[in-house]
This record gives sequence, structure tokens and C-alpha cells, in this order.
Amino acid sequence: MKTNKLDTLLMDLDGTLLKLDMDSFLPKYMDDVAAFVNYDGGKKLFLKAFWTASLAMVEDSNPQKTNEEVFFHTFCSLVGSSREKWQVLFERYYRERFPLLGELSTFDPVSVKIVEEARRKNFFLVLATNPVFPRVAIEERLKWADLKSHDFDFITSFENMHFCKPNPGYYREILQKINRSPQQCLMLGNDAVEDMAAGEIGITTYLVEDMLIESKKQAPKYDFRGTLQDFLSFLQDLPPAL
Ligand SMILES: [Mg+2]
Repeated sequence: MKTNKLDTLLMDLDGTLLKLDMDSFLPKYMDDVAAFVNYDGGKKLFLKAFWTASLAMVEDSNPQKTNEEVFFHTFCSLVGSSREKWQVLFERYYRERFPLLGELSTFDPVSVKIVEEARRKNFFLVLATNPVFPRVAIEERLKWADLKSHDFDFITSFENMHFCKPNPGYYREILQKINRSPQQCLMLGNDAVEDMAAGEIGITTYLVEDMLIESKKQAPKYDFRGTLQDFLSFLQDLPPAL
């Protein structure tokens, strides 16, 4: 595995840079959204629509529709009323209530060091978080990780992407947008399927073990594997970007 051409880091957020267990976070988050929007058709129908629209977004592979468009198309067809109304309500949720969920996460000082070291080495930094959330919710979780959005040259969100992990199209779209070849890039992530799918298009992959998510069905394929601390050492040994 050649690592001397690397000048671009793609990094996952949840479970990688931020200590957040999505399995326990998601139900609390969805309950919280439901309580905030207080949908007059009932909580059950709201949650069903929210979940169905989220799955539609993950499964859709139409390159003409952003994840946001797919989400609202499905969601609004199930709950009625306009996309504009819901967008305003969700925006308010993410600004007013979502920050309180930060207590379910812990920040890891190693993540801050990784970002500092990558910047010092002049690497191009992509926050490659699964683009199922709006930008406002991603910026908030970055704060929980003690990181800043301006630390990253590009951030994937549901507004700017047309695919989700583990679709290799997600990684292909990032590379198109940032004008990089797979040989220049390394993907860092804790999910053996969703993050390591970057390897399918030739991106070097590093599986982070701290909060490892593995599939029972298939053995993970990756180029490197270790703790977040191990990755920091790995990064320190890489030559700086030209
Ligand atoms: Mg993750």
C-alpha cells in the first residue's frame, strides 16, 4: 500500500472523531424531534414517516436528486403539508433543542490532535459523515467533538450530496467535488461496511477500532486498522502534502 501520495483525508464523524454511539443515540434523537414538532397526526405516524423518509434517502441512487430532496419528497407525501413548513420547524429544532443531546456524546482530545496534525501537514480535509443530516446538525456535532467547521475544506451533508454510505457513489461524488484521485485520499472511519466502502473505488482505508461497527455477514476489507491514537501516530509518520 503506497501512502506517499496521500494529501487528502476523509474522516467520519460519529463513532470516529466524536464518541457517539448511534444505536443508543438515534432512538433518543427521534423521540426528541417528535416531541418538539408535536405533529397533529400523532407521534407514531410522524416517527414512521421520518424513518421511512430516512431509509428512502439511504437507498435512493438517483444522481439528479439530493438526499434532502429525497427525504422531503417521501416525508411530505406521508405527513402532508408543505416542505417549507417542515424545513422551518426542523431548522428550529436543530438550533434550539438538538444542542442539548450533546451530553450523550464525549469528545476525544485525540481527534483534535489528528485535525491539527493534518492541517499542519497541509492535508485537504473532508468531513465524510453520512449525509443524512442537514448541515446545521453536523456543525453542532462538530462542536461536541471540540472541532470547528472551518477546520474542514469540505463537509458532506444532506443538502450537497446525492448518495449515502455505503454506496460507492457517495465516495465518487466527493472526489468529483474536490477534484482528487483515489490515490490521493485516505478514508478514516469506525464502520467496517459504510466507511470501508471507500476502498471499492481505490481510496486507502483505515478502520478505527475505538467504537468499531462490524457486519456479521462479511469480513471487513481495509488497508489499515488501529485505534484513533494509532492513527495519530500513522499520520505523524506520513510526509507532508506538497
Ligand atoms: Mg461512524
